[in-house]
Amino acid sequence: MDKRTKIVATISDRRCEVDFIRSLYDAGMNAVRINSAHVTPKSADRIVNNTRRVSESIAIIIDTKGPEVRVTRMAESCRDGIVVKLGDRVRLMGTDEDRESTPEVVFLNVATVARDVPMGASVLVDDGEIELVVVEKGDDYLIGEVKNAGVIRSHKSVNIPGVQMDLPSISERDRMFILWAIDRGLDFVAHSFVRTKEDVLAVKKIIKEHDSPMKIISKIENKEGVDNLDKILPVTYGIMVARGDLGVELPAEKIPVAQRLIVRKCIESKTPVIIATQMLHSMISNPRPTRAEVSDIAGAVYERVDAIMLSGETANGDYPVEAVSTMTRVAMEIERDNNHNMPLIDMNMVRINNEITAQLSRSAVRATLNLPVRAIVTDTLTGRTGRYLAAFRSHKPVYAFCYSKNVMRQLALSYGVYAIHLEDDGSSRSFLPGLLAYLREKRWLTQSDLVVVIGGSFGAANGASFMNIGSAGNFEKI
Ligand code: PEP
Repeated sequence: MDKRTKIVATISDRRCEVDFIRSLYDAGMNAVRINSAHVTPKSADRIVNNTRRVSESIAIIIDTKGPEVRVTRMAESCRDGIVVKLGDRVRLMGTDEDRESTPEVVFLNVATVARDVPMGASVLVDDGEIELVVVEKGDDYLIGEVKNAGVIRSHKSVNIPGVQMDLPSISERDRMFILWAIDRGLDFVAHSFVRTKEDVLAVKKIIKEHDSPMKIISKIENKEGVDNLDKILPVTYGIMVARGDLGVELPAEKIPVAQRLIVRKCIESKTPVIIATQMLHSMISNPRPTRAEVSDIAGAVYERVDAIMLSGETANGDYPVEAVSTMTRVAMEIERDNNHNMPLIDMNMVRINNEITAQLSRSAVRATLNLPVRAIVTDTLTGRTGRYLAAFRSHKPVYAFCYSKNVMRQLALSYGVYAIHLEDDGSSRSFLPGLLAYLREKRWLTQSDLVVVIGGSFGAANGASFMNIGSAGNFEKI
């Protein structure tokens, strides 16, 4: 499929049959996201196994809960939730134990909540459905006045915009899921509520201790994450603009501003970036998207993000396949827009940082603008050359030969990269003849097509060192 922008689809354990996943893959899905908030390791195993049965090229992402404030479980007497009306006063207390909430006291999972939350702060429950404003505070409690009525239910999310909470980077449940993901050879962990680089480093430590190739996507979903982006970028593999929670933590009108800032910084630093949440929200219950949703996807593609994501649309919506194919159609239409509306990114904004691979990648993408090049072809041991080529957002496809399946799947989140893992039969010193023959067999290239090759003269482990331009047929003879 000639689509450059990658698509991530969230899959639930309630609907993860092989045929279902195959239909999403055929419609253009490149990566599966599993939301750990809604699965157990056992039920998530089914999603992983079934995805692998469809294709080994599909990346799998486990999404953690991260340092997130939540209401504790409701007591038996109010299992269906606590109804709160405008003007009611609710007592809030923090706990790091397993204390249940009642109409008398609603417990939050942070012991220091009374200390950290100031008078006048907004406490937003359940993605902002219910708003409480702190009107009184004591040593170990807060009193919140209800500004938005509703029902407070077990384990609902709590956002307190602008207030930094004393929460560990990783909860015990997150650690358990990260270890599970390492054990299953998953490709990515998307860590929620990344506030600082320390949150990323805490996840990295576990990955390193287990010598795993899994990579970290930092979900930016509060102001602290946005403010600390420059420090987070050097330690993370990728970024997700998690607009669901970001839209609760920041006023809605600031979301597009934050999105643009984050995307720009990701492009500058060659960091894969995913835009998430509500891209086709109405398709949870309607077969056709709203015009505004189509424009939102188009906006992200015009901004040249690496990937766009579906959540409820594919996890529990009525039109999951239609949602993926809608995304595919919109992305391809925008990518094809040569009406000067689909600008090239300013390649000078992408930092070279004294790296030969980055310089060669820029030269390769520039060559596709000046010559009738059909594709860029490369090999990539760690995925870096593939990622760097993606960073310059070539209009022409990048075919990347990978030496491991994890690297192939990790490139499923990089713009315009078609990653290919071919078993090495040891018959050739170069990846090129085998890869070009494969591309010709697939009818993605003909012998007369002009290609740009990025390769390394000093072995794959030593990185890229040259650029070569010629017809595919000539390279096959090498
Ligand atoms: C979000 O908040 O936008 C998001 C992607 O995270 P989650 O789906 O885990 O709430």
